[in-house]
Amino acid sequence: MHIPKKYGVSKRTNCPFCDRPATTHSAQEVPVCRLHKERELEEIKCVCGSFLALEIGAYGPYFSCVNCGNLSFKKGLEMRNPQVKSQDTVEKKSNAAEMTVRSDDPRFFD
Ligand SMILES: [Zn+2]
Ligand SMILES: [Zn+2]
Repeated sequence: MHIPKKYGVSKRTNCPFCDRPATTHSAQEVPVCRLHKERELEEIKCVCGSFLALEIGAYGPYFSCVNCGNLSFKKGLEMRNPQVKSQDTVEKKSNAAEMTVRSDDPRFFD
């Protein structure tokens, strides 16, 4: 038994579907918001390629991978939603339209 006797230290878990604070649990025991109570968490693929198993521990849900071991719930969710780094292929058009305001404009003294 290495479970610290501390209740109420459960970290705030956000709803995995909308990232708002979870206020209830789905049928899968996953913390969800009220709106997503009926939603089921889809299978999440681990970085190693195998699927994560959703486990419910004393402190809430977490994931386990046959290859990588246990992962926090949050970490598993991050794998579900690999932060799509918007590869900003922003072709910065050197829009250096130099707006040099010149006071020596001939019309200035018209
Ligand atoms: Zn939600
Ligand atoms: Zn893995």
